[in-house]
Amino acid sequence: MSGNERFDCIVVGAGPAGTAAALTLARAGVKVVLFERGEFPGAKNVMGGVLYSKTLNKLVPGFWKEAPLERPVIEQNLWMLSSDSVAKVGYRSPRFVPGHAAEGGVPDEGPANAFTVLRAKFDRWFAQKAVDAGALLITETAVEDLLWENGKVVGVQTGRDDGKVYADAVIVTAGLHALNSLIPKMADGRLGIKPEHVALAVKQIIALPKEKIEDRFNLPAGMGATIELVGASTSGLTGISFIYTNADSISIGAGAMLSDYVKSGKHPYDVIEDFKAHPAIKPLIAGGEVKEYLGHLIPEGGYNAVPKLYGDGFMVAGDSAMLVNSVHREGSNLAMESGRLAAETFIKAKERKDYSARSFAAYRDALDKSFVLKDLRKYRGIQHYLDSHPQIFLSYPEMVSEAAFRFLNVDEAPKAEHEKMMVQAVTNRRSMMGLLSDLWAGWRATR
Ligand SMILES: Cc1cc2nc3c(=O)[nH]c(=O)nc-3n(C[C@H](O)[C@H](O)[C@H](O)COP(=O)(O)OP(=O)(O)OC[C@H]3O[C@@H](n4cnc5c(N)ncnc54)[C@H](O)[C@@H]3O)c2cc1C
Repeated sequence: MSGNERFDCIVVGAGPAGTAAALTLARAGVKVVLFERGEFPGAKNVMGGVLYSKTLNKLVPGFWKEAPLERPVIEQNLWMLSSDSVAKVGYRSPRFVPGHAAEGGVPDEGPANAFTVLRAKFDRWFAQKAVDAGALLITETAVEDLLWENGKVVGVQTGRDDGKVYADAVIVTAGLHALNSLIPKMADGRLGIKPEHVALAVKQIIALPKEKIEDRFNLPAGMGATIELVGASTSGLTGISFIYTNADSISIGAGAMLSDYVKSGKHPYDVIEDFKAHPAIKPLIAGGEVKEYLGHLIPEGGYNAVPKLYGDGFMVAGDSAMLVNSVHREGSNLAMESGRLAAETFIKAKERKDYSARSFAAYRDALDKSFVLKDLRKYRGIQHYLDSHPQIFLSYPEMVSEAAFRFLNVDEAPKAEHEKMMVQAVTNRRSMMGLLSDLWAGWRATR
């Protein structure tokens, strides 16, 4: 790239959103440059990570035959941890993994509903697809600012010597980081990261032999499982933990609202170490070696925190636009879909040679019609609900544990007595009216 080179479109950040945008643009013959601050795409990126197939398959049909994936997910679980016990709900179905032979291997039919992935491998492969289609990928180059002329974005200021790069429009897909650096300027300083809109997640990758993983998680060869956990897994903070099986490692992590960390003074390192030491978790990872330790923020503000998505000369997609559905742990697929829709909006704008906010308003319309904003809108009340009902994360798992113990423990007391004790285990912590009101409010928050 020479100092004064001009592009049709600049994409900032080669995560799922940016690569989806660059790939779509390059395939349409758009002259696009994709800036990535990392040494390579994925070098610093963090995800649990469960990757959903549907959206990626639209971008790279048959991706599962060549992408670096860990395991197709055949089973999903929710565990509620009390201080020493665990209550489990799970669902396993071959319908999640159509065509994936029980012995593993790569099927012709598919894809599975979801795969576990490691982002350092996956993002690199995905970005190469954009490069193969004709996008120019420039790594180790951070975009420091957007360039403005007469109220319109006309390019970016990079950290390179020949730092300024110009284009007809910029698509910002730099992750949550952009909310503090690039986006406030686009929104006249009204936005920025708020602790109550963001979760801080820490994750470890623990190496374990393939056979041990399949034994411990009771998995058919080559298949994977996910476990989401609430309760004692986050040391009294409002949050969720996770365990995902990779090919020969386990991804284990815990996330809690940043505002909770600030209030409690707890350290994320202690939270994950306490979680790993829980009697229900320790045997799953015993003998494993911690290979990586990662931390990242997750935008969880939901629909009400979505910033300005477009303006004169720019659009915003993925985490930069707060497009994460935390109820269903979906983020990478929303990022890819929004990146693709932003690119398609640019392609149409290019035909009209109109890169104004009026022209890019079509991006917001497309997002409104897609699952991305339909789902976020459905859950628009959930953040407030969880903030105002911390008992869902904290006392409910203890309550379920106590009720299950009292019901299942055989001590020769009459069963009617057991039933009474079980009800007491619940009502000692929450009155029947309180329970009903929590249920009702939860139902309302998701309508
Ligand atoms: C612990 C954790 C677990 C998660 N689990 C899941 C899960 O299981 N499933 C799921 O679907 N989602 C999950 N998510 C959410 C998901 O990771 C994100 O929603 C998704 O990665 C968003 O993609 P993105 O491309 O918008 O942003 P990112 O993936 O953050 O990518 C942004 C890219 O921009 C680059 N960049 C940043 N600033 C600049 C700059 N100034 N200049 C140039 N480049 C820049 C970064 O290096 C990065 O490559 C999880 C997130 C976390 C943190």
